[in-house]
Amino acid sequence: MNRSTVSVNGRIYRAPTAPTVVVCIDGSEPDYFDRAIDAGAAPAVARFRREGFATLSRCVVPSFTNPNNLSIVTGVSPAVHGIAGNYFYDATAGREVMMNDPRYLRCGTLLAALAQAGARLAVVTAKDKLRRLLGHEMRGVCFSSEKADQVTKDEHGIERATDLVDMAVPDVYSAELSEFVLAAGLALLERERPDVMYLSLTDYVQHKHPPGDPVATAFYAMLDRYFDAFDRAGAVLGITADHGMKGKAGPDGTPNVVYLRPLLDAWVGAGRARVILPITDPYVVHHGALGSFATIHLERPADAPGVVERLRATPGIGEVHERAAGCLRFELPPDRTGDVVLVSEANVVLGKAPEEHDLSLLREPLRSHGGTSEQVVPFVINRPVRDVPSSGADGLRNFDVFDYVLNRVA
Ligand SMILES: [Zn+2]
Repeated sequence: MNRSTVSVNGRIYRAPTAPTVVVCIDGSEPDYFDRAIDAGAAPAVARFRREGFATLSRCVVPSFTNPNNLSIVTGVSPAVHGIAGNYFYDATAGREVMMNDPRYLRCGTLLAALAQAGARLAVVTAKDKLRRLLGHEMRGVCFSSEKADQVTKDEHGIERATDLVDMAVPDVYSAELSEFVLAAGLALLERERPDVMYLSLTDYVQHKHPPGDPVATAFYAMLDRYFDAFDRAGAVLGITADHGMKGKAGPDGTPNVVYLRPLLDAWVGAGRARVILPITDPYVVHHGALGSFATIHLERPADAPGVVERLRATPGIGEVHERAAGCLRFELPPDRTGDVVLVSEANVVLGKAPEEHDLSLLREPLRSHGGTSEQVVPFVINRPVRDVPSSGADGLRNFDVFDYVLNRVA
């Protein structure tokens, strides 16, 4: 790098002195590591806990993939970066849109700034939906394992990414999609020694298997083998998650869903409220577009206080706020948030109406995320850290991880 520091979104980061790798484990409820370590399946992470730094941190709510990945690479909340969900209602355009496009991003990323300062960057994501946001204005390698066989030097900074890894390009719904990311990252580390890498996985396994389940433990054992390899290759390694994951079904396996539209139709009149579920994305098979966060746009904003009051009295609903209070509480951009913001209780999800969610696609009892109940995530560094802010682990956010690996490793 040609400078000793870069300044991004009000934070200052030092130039890396060793290859620096941040891994975002999608949907990593803290229990997954605890159970894997108890089973002796995650010796490297157990070692980092003893010899490095390990604590818990809080992610951004809505506890979804895009808002949190963007917070991690920008160092700020969605109120600043603008990516408030996978999906939102564009009130000016009058339509519901995916937030995959970089034009929705309202600030620069640390990754782009580091590349601009001369650092060599590599980003590998599991799903292609994140690639363009993470790679926005970034010079370097950036591709997804989902589309690793479709890369070009021009667009992705690399040719024949499939040659990096001795694996076929995995199915988008598979554990291998994440393994491919780590295998490609390790190959890049050994072959090209990039200064900074960001590797973002997928939560396919966590949506299906609870902590301690043999499939989940095998997945975490696989992750641990790569973490060990990164550590032994001399990398500074930071590990966190975009969100946790909780069971959302009752004892008989039926999902606990509060369908919002029938309630709203009864309260404010049919068709006068638009329910937005920002978990919605093109990959709905494992969660049926059911998550624990929703925002509601009202035809008559004056209905908001009454709707808030009635939702608060509804079983299964956690917190409910009007827009201004909700945006303050969850650090969200008001212009991309409805008149009402709500999260469900921990083991409940929010739906639009029964006919809009195809639950027949679910093969296992529903596990999902989106609310405050999935806000606690692991925060692990493979080296000891110094200069921990006095607020300590209490105020720690998953999007402090680059600050830790670049500024605070001893
Ligand atoms: Zn996620």
